[in-house]
Parts: sequence; structure tokens; C-alpha cells
Amino acid sequence: MSNKTSRRSFLKGAFDRAAAMRPVGALPAMEFEDVCTGCGDCARACPEGIIFRDSEGFPVVKLRRGECTFCNACTDACDTGALVAGNAWPWRARAKASCLSRNGVQCRACQDHCESQAIRFRLQPGGSSQPLFDADLCTGCGACAAPCPVNAIEFTEISQQLETSKC
Ligand code: SF4
Ligand code: SF4
Ligand code: SF4
Repeated sequence: MSNKTSRRSFLKGAFDRAAAMRPVGALPAMEFEDVCTGCGDCARACPEGIIFRDSEGFPVVKLRRGECTFCNACTDACDTGALVAGNAWPWRARAKASCLSRNGVQCRACQDHCESQAIRFRLQPGGSSQPLFDADLCTGCGACAAPCPVNAIEFTEISQQLETSKC
């Protein structure tokens, strides 16, 4: 992929789409799209079957389809250098406004599936409960995402969460 195409994609992305969740070990977004050939080796290597192709042919992880076990099979399968062992996984979970519990409906499905015990609930006036995700305990594995009955779990990059918390 040419630098021109990648840069255009980046600038477009900066304005109208959120950062894509690339497989474990991915280079930063612009570099990744320059180096990744879209060969699909990472997707074929993933035992959980959670790596798909996005509209531009790049691999994207869909935690709604299953949990990442951090087995590193995707990283190991990448011969281009787009996925590099040791690069930290930057994603952390949080609940969107559509969360049942936030809207007064009893639900603890995400908490029940979190082995890291990263989720607790804070009671709110009126009977709703706010799920709180501890970014230090959360590994970004996604085990909470598929069990959520209303697809209310989203993942953001740690740097983005820090920016949001400053606002
Ligand atoms: S680390 Fe393993 S489970 Fe996670 S996306 Fe890569 S191959 Fe799949
Ligand atoms: S599983 Fe989904 S709807 Fe239920 S409490 Fe968690 S985020 Fe909310
Ligand atoms: S992503 Fe994993 S560690 Fe984080 S809250 Fe969900 S289940 Fe727990």
C-alpha cells in the first residue's frame, strides 16, 4: 500500500471513523497500514476466529465475536512486521449509554464473565446501576463483550480514556 493511500486513509479516518482494533502487536495506525499487506495470515492463525477483514482489506479484531486469549498466534504468523511481539494491547472496555443496568434493568452479564474482576457497579438514584471498568485491572480481553445482551460494551484505547477522563 502506498504512503499516499495510507495517509489519505488516515486523514479520512481522523475525521469520520474511530481507530480500528488491529490484531495483537500492531504498529501505530499509520505505520500499520503502510506495512500490512492484507495477506490474512493473522486471521487464519487465530484459534478464536475473531480476526476479520475491514472494508480496506486490513485485519480487524471483533471482540463481539469472542474473547482474545493473547495467545500471540496472530503476531507470530505475521511476516511483514506489521504485528510485533511485545507491543502492548492498548484497548480497554467500557459500557455505552445503552447498557441495561444504566437504564434501570437488572443485568450483570459482563461482570459475570470478567475473570479479572475489573467491573463493579455503582448504584445510582432511581434504581439504575453504573458499571465501572477499572482500566488497571481490565486486560481488554473482550470476554465481557459477547455476553452483553444489548451490545453495550465498547473498547477504547488507553490514551483516549485518559483524554476523556481529563475533560
Ligand atoms: S492473540 Fe490469539 S486470540 Fe488474540 S487475536 Fe491474536 S491469534 Fe486471536
Ligand atoms: S452486560 Fe451489557 S447491558 Fe449488562 S450490565 Fe454489562 S454492559 Fe450493561
Ligand atoms: S475486557 Fe476482559 S478484563 Fe476487561 S472488563 Fe471485559 S472481561 Fe474484564
